[in-house]
Amino acid sequence: MTTENQPAKQRTIFSFEIFPPKRDMPLDTVYRTLDDLADLNPDFISVTCGAGGSSDGSNRRTIEVASAIQNKYHGVGIAHLPCIHFSREDVLSMLRELEQNGVHHILALRGDRVPDLTPKEDFRHASDLVAFIREHTGDRFQIFAACYPEGHTEAPDLDADIRNLRKKVDAGVNRLISQLFFDNEFFYEFQEKTAKAGIHVPIEAGIMPVTNKKQIERMVTLCGATLPRKFQRVLAKYESQPEALREAGIAFATEQIVDLLGHGVDGIHLYTMNNPYIARKISESIRTLL
Ligand code: FAD
Repeated sequence: MTTENQPAKQRTIFSFEIFPPKRDMPLDTVYRTLDDLADLNPDFISVTCGAGGSSDGSNRRTIEVASAIQNKYHGVGIAHLPCIHFSREDVLSMLRELEQNGVHHILALRGDRVPDLTPKEDFRHASDLVAFIREHTGDRFQIFAACYPEGHTEAPDLDADIRNLRKKVDAGVNRLISQLFFDNEFFYEFQEKTAKAGIHVPIEAGIMPVTNKKQIERMVTLCGATLPRKFQRVLAKYESQPEALREAGIAFATEQIVDLLGHGVDGIHLYTMNNPYIARKISESIRTLL
């Protein structure tokens, strides 16, 4: 990891996403993952947060793990903050705690609705959260936000989603990280459209190596990403051979990343699924290309 606690500049950013264990599980599992990822030297590691807000304590875990990345692993930890089930007071107290622990990077999100949990009314869109953080902390945080190369599932179309994205960026976003996608053409068209819409912050491409058929079917249903036919064929052929499918998934993701790097993307954000084997194989293949 970088030692200056700042993402490296002047080359393509390469970052990881991990998730913390559930509240009743020991934190050791995620620390073992971080031990294994540390020598891969990512520019930052972002830590997801369950959308349930303070109701299920998932925000506590995110703060703990992002703080450990910063203080124990001497890297750059980014705390995801999905606001839909948080109050303003919840957010202020999280910001205070993050700052006390030296975490100055946040991925500001709306989050998904949780069944049986009524959203709090304080933040309706991620842009409300971005504006709130800027109002209360000025420039003390680097604020990242999410974007969707194929459009967000609730948006009427991609153009409408990009107009909303512009509002979010204008509220004070420094950098965007994209939803996963499997066909780079969607990302290149998105880059053109966002530039035309006046969005000029760096955009990292979110890449998820597919390692099992169920996982990918769930992700595709959740986020609406298009699965290219060539990859559907690979899934069909190797679905009952876990090792072969894992290696095919790594090869497909690596090929996607090489093409993205060739196009000069601002960054690659790898959804590691807490799997150091996959993160290592991909990192080693692309390291010299960054
Ligand atoms: P928003 O930017 O608020 O957009 C949501 C919808 O509202 C879009 O359709 C948009 O077009 C529309 N919209 C936005 N602003 C306006 C406006 N002003 N007026 C009208 N419409 C508007 N979820 C989690 O719960 N935890 C996580 O840790 C997490 N990590 C993620 C990491 C990445 C990189 C990504 C891409 C997503 C992540 N998510 C996470 C999922 C995310 O919370 C969902 O996709 C959620 O549905 C939308 O969040 P958002 O921040 O993009 O919302």
